[in-house]
Amino acid sequence: MKTQFGIHTRGGVITERDADYATIRLRIPAGVLSAAQLRGIAEIAEKYGDGGVHLTMRQTIELPHVDPSLLEDIAAVLGENGTPLGAERDEVVNVMACPGLERCKYANVETTELAKRIDHLVFGKEMPVKVRISIAGCTYACGSPQLNEIGIVGRIRPLRIPGLCTGCGTCVEYCRNCAIAIRDGISVLDESKCLQCGICIYSCPFHLLKSEYPHYQILVGGRRGMEPRIGRELINVETEDEVVAVVERIIDWIYRRAWSGRLLADQLDELDFDRFKEMMEKEFSTDRGD
Ligand code: SF4
Ligand code: SF4
Ligand code: SF4
Repeated sequence: MKTQFGIHTRGGVITERDADYATIRLRIPAGVLSAAQLRGIAEIAEKYGDGGVHLTMRQTIELPHVDPSLLEDIAAVLGENGTPLGAERDEVVNVMACPGLERCKYANVETTELAKRIDHLVFGKEMPVKVRISIAGCTYACGSPQLNEIGIVGRIRPLRIPGLCTGCGTCVEYCRNCAIAIRDGISVLDESKCLQCGICIYSCPFHLLKSEYPHYQILVGGRRGMEPRIGRELINVETEDEVVAVVERIIDWIYRRAWSGRLLADQLDELDFDRFKEMMEKEFSTDRGD
């Protein structure tokens, strides 16, 4: 059987241990599918694979054990299904997001539409290093954005309305970070301990805590794996448009400056991350971020 070349070079095609077979990874930003798309994937897996699927760490699906000679046909039907070929090489791979404001009661920001916007702009771009992007709607950080090359976390700074606090201590109980204490009969926030999760805001029975400055914290250079690293904070921005613009700038910065063959986390200092951070802070300056 004649193998269809070309498509093999795409990141969504993974050669299996038995090289007579390939695994196909899909592009599913934020891991969101309709029931019809899910049925479509099942039908494609039955027709072209071994009838099974694999759920990956990055909110996508793999079709194992397909015949490499049928890759073009499989890519075509996957495209028609709205679940095209994915990426897994040195490129921008599947963009992850938690459910965010759409469903999660802890969320501070919207996440899934943001993931789709970012996917639309940068997915599959060939890069010197693999670039993983993960978005979390709050500092509980489901999806571990801090362990991705680009991490985005929705945060809110709490603000107590002066003079009205009864000192009941409910917010103190709710804060897992011990950032609130009752002093002289009123609650006092220790900003240095506050993670800006926003949980206390919803805890006050008298609605005295307000959300101030909802924003997105953007981190760069995290990674999982053998030697995990926490990404470094690049900047805080207030709007979704700014997040998209910052992500585009980070991708461009990595593309132009990073060395291939090494993980991004290992070369941040050589790439002069601090100077890039300074430039970004000037460009997207806000006097409210920290
Ligand atoms: S990160 Fe926060 S908003 Fe997102 S799912 Fe987890 S708890 Fe909910
Ligand atoms: S925002 Fe979160 S960490 Fe900060 S004081 Fe409120 S509950 Fe504590
Ligand atoms: S829950 Fe509200 S009223 Fe009670 S201590 Fe906190 S801010 Fe004050």
